[in-house]
Amino acid sequence: MRIDIISCVPQLLTSPFEHSILQRGRAAGVIDVVVHNLRDYSESKQKQTDDYAFGGGAGMVMMIEPIDRCISHLKSQRSYDAVIYTSPDGKLFDQPMANQLSLFKNIIILCGHYKGVDERVRENLITHEISIGDYVLSGGELAAAVISDAILRLVPGVMNDETSALTDSFQDGLIAPPVFTRPAEFKGYKVPEVLLSGHQAKIEEWRMEQSLDRTKTRRPDLYRSLTENQILTK
Ligand code: SAH
Repeated sequence: MRIDIISCVPQLLTSPFEHSILQRGRAAGVIDVVVHNLRDYSESKQKQTDDYAFGGGAGMVMMIEPIDRCISHLKSQRSYDAVIYTSPDGKLFDQPMANQLSLFKNIIILCGHYKGVDERVRENLITHEISIGDYVLSGGELAAAVISDAILRLVPGVMNDETSALTDSFQDGLIAPPVFTRPAEFKGYKVPEVLLSGHQAKIEEWRMEQSLDRTKTRRPDLYRSLTENQILTK
């Protein structure tokens, strides 16, 4: 899978993809992330990518021309399954959306800045609008990093143990159970006995109980929807 990110501040995106799981996935050749500097697609002398808003008011607006030029250039190289714009009024990003997007081959993510992009970009060049939460960031770069990370870690070959992603929170609508590692006792704090028992069936039963308990107390909204949809019976 390949993700092309378009940004007018590409420096903000140098680090997130160069370490740990995503770096390994890139080195293995199963994923790629390419960041494009929008300024390279501006035809003005000053490499301008934003301008004053028609009608006045505070804040600059990102211009359509460089964005259109960049997207057209990318589309002339390969076909894209989605052209995403990060926006606080977009669809709220969640695990099912990450799962769906992880099946795509090529994705473009456009990062807004300032007051956002000229509305004609959204009307004509974008296929999906995604928000990462009900708050406003100064730019779409961190949102693009969050979305890309959540998608790319699901691509087969990125994680050492692919089954690991299946046991994370939200994959089955439940919160993940607690995890522990060595030492088995630290300053008197003990690891639950059952995890040291070696009895796999009992361990799985305990994990499921913990998941259900945590979901009930920490995310009653998720728990309710599981019972309402009769996925859970209690
Ligand atoms: N004027 C806009 C906010 C602009 S913030 C409004 O009131 O809706 C600048 C840019 O940051 C946006 O264009 C968007 O790309 C990004 N951004 C801000 N908050 C975001 C969020 N919650 N999710 C995704 N992107 C966000």
